[in-house]
Amino acid sequence: MASTRNTPQREAILAYLQSVHTHPTAEEVHAAVSRKLLSIALATVYRNLNLLAERGIIHRHQIGGGYRYDADLAAHEHCVCTSCGGIYDVPAEDIEAAATRHIDRKRFVPDHVEVTVYGVCAKCDHDTDTIRKVKPT
Ligand SMILES: [Zn+2]
Ligand SMILES: [Zn+2]
Repeated sequence: MASTRNTPQREAILAYLQSVHTHPTAEEVHAAVSRKLLSIALATVYRNLNLLAERGIIHRHQIGGGYRYDADLAAHEHCVCTSCGGIYDVPAEDIEAAATRHIDRKRFVPDHVEVTVYGVCAKCDHDTDTIRKVKPT
């Protein structure tokens, strides 16, 4: 009963994160999971999100002054809309290679690269013709 392995709360939190690509805040995860579980404390959500992030099951990104949670573990970076706060994924292979190309591996061993690109998304841009929807290849 008191197993700390897979609590219903943690499973619900993980299932929700895996169902969205919106990079929700802890508060947003709490609101969504609360609709399924009758009572879950915000502190419980925080604790489980941190635990999942520490175990590498999800990623925690510091974006726009707060933490956002992401269950997509494939290498990708983030485009953040400064108008609506929307976060969009972009493939990262090229960015990581470019960012670490000049690092002297004798002095520093890169683990991972986090790049956040700020701009305006197509929904917020009045002239939507200037931003075309990028199709994943
Ligand atoms: Zn936007
Ligand atoms: Zn992401």
